[in-house]
Amino acid sequence: MLYRSTRGAQKDVPASLAILTGLASDGGLFVPQEMPDLTVSLSDIKNMSYQELACVILKAFLTDFTDEEIRRCVYSAYDSKFDTELIAPLKKTKDAYFLELFHGKTIAFKDMALSILPYLMTVSAKKNDIDKEIVILTATSGDTGKAAMAGFADVPGTRIIVFYPKDGVSPVQERQMVTQKGENTYVVSIKGNFDDAQSAVKKIFSDNEFAKELEEKGFVLSSANSINIGRLVPQIVYYVYAYAQLLKSGAIKEGEKINIVVPTGNFGNILAAYFAKKIIVPVNRLICASNQNRVLTDFFETGTYDKNREFFLTSSPSMDILISSNLERLIFEACGNDAAKTAALMQDLSGKGKYTVTEDMRTVLSQFTGGCASEEECAGAIRRVFEEDSYVIDTHTGVAAAVYDKYLEETHDSTVTVIASTASPYKFGRAVLGAIDEKRFGPHSDEEQFEDMRQVSGTQIPEAIQELLGAEVRHDLTVEKDMLKQTVRKLLGF
Ligand SMILES: *Cc1c(COP(=O)(O)O)cnc(C)c1O
Repeated sequence: MLYRSTRGAQKDVPASLAILTGLASDGGLFVPQEMPDLTVSLSDIKNMSYQELACVILKAFLTDFTDEEIRRCVYSAYDSKFDTELIAPLKKTKDAYFLELFHGKTIAFKDMALSILPYLMTVSAKKNDIDKEIVILTATSGDTGKAAMAGFADVPGTRIIVFYPKDGVSPVQERQMVTQKGENTYVVSIKGNFDDAQSAVKKIFSDNEFAKELEEKGFVLSSANSINIGRLVPQIVYYVYAYAQLLKSGAIKEGEKINIVVPTGNFGNILAAYFAKKIIVPVNRLICASNQNRVLTDFFETGTYDKNREFFLTSSPSMDILISSNLERLIFEACGNDAAKTAALMQDLSGKGKYTVTEDMRTVLSQFTGGCASEEECAGAIRRVFEEDSYVIDTHTGVAAAVYDKYLEETHDSTVTVIASTASPYKFGRAVLGAIDEKRFGPHSDEEQFEDMRQVSGTQIPEAIQELLGAEVRHDLTVEKDMLKQTVRKLLGF
């Protein structure tokens, strides 16, 4: 099975090449030519481990990988780096099951894909006779850069350079990055904001002369951002695994439909849930939860995607997004895999900042319910879940819980529901503790805050947090925003 571009002006490529290049040359995203058939049924998955299931699903999508290559990638990624053998456990509460996707190295859901992407990439390079060292370049506003570095650290044949805005990340995020271990990791702060970092990195990617220069020195550039199918496909696994766990515990019968609620930013995580639905999981509603930046809520309600609006900074920063890149894959499908039409709509988006889909397209989109939550509603949901279940969720998951609360109130839908829990509450401790009891948890030092969280949640302080407290600073390079190319040269040693 090959992958084609949603904009149709690039020839179809095997999975390994789609992983290496990330974005198609026509600016489109790669999608599988058809949804693959799985070699397992619902009754088979019940007793499979996370890794066994990952092998089956990855094999179905990455058809130019051998069984042995898939196994090696899967077992290298999902090992004792995760603090539970289940990898993605389900926590039952009064109204829903929380699918905990934060047991990896940086205690957020990006680890689920970024722990395997480096292995998929190095195998892909070998397959395509690329004998160069892969250099991952990333601009980050915090979370992705750290998760990518944790994934690529000390993976042979790769190096990773992360640029972040000096004054544009939280103190905890900065501390996480500058203490990053690994001989192949480089972290550089730039004098400028996130957009400056992002534009400068994009410029490097489109610099053909620089690409040639790098090639002569034995390097090839690649990117680890969320539109890469090497990130999308591994995310399908945990939705199938969640269904398997529900079957195993007797919470549902085989074939019974479930709802899935996903706190959404770039539309990558919820798209994986949709793919899971298409290949095996019986799903009733896919609920797309947004924070105050409700561009997707309005889109599902009206059929118009309009990014011309005020941008809000919220307590769920990883969802503060006005352009949800992965939505293009759903748009492509909604218009019957019509690449010309998709390209035209995306042209409208970059030109006018908006587009409107047709009535026909809305039939496919109607499998999704959009909803959004204000800061107060999110805090209220965090508090309610804590009071009812003594369970502490983070602010992103809080948005999903709040949207689900409103959905339940409106529909009284009794379908068993899984809520994707995308970050450990330790990562956003201040906002979470404030939501639970703002009188008790005033402004504290980081150390005090972690200790408060330990007591309130009754969970151990994750290693990712403990490491942070005593870790030595390994990176302290700051550069001007027009010096990125020179910096890359210097770091790579030429
Ligand atoms: C990235 C992220 C999201 C949003 O996921 P998308 O795939 O971009 O929709 C939600 N929560 C957390 C904690 C994240 O890091």
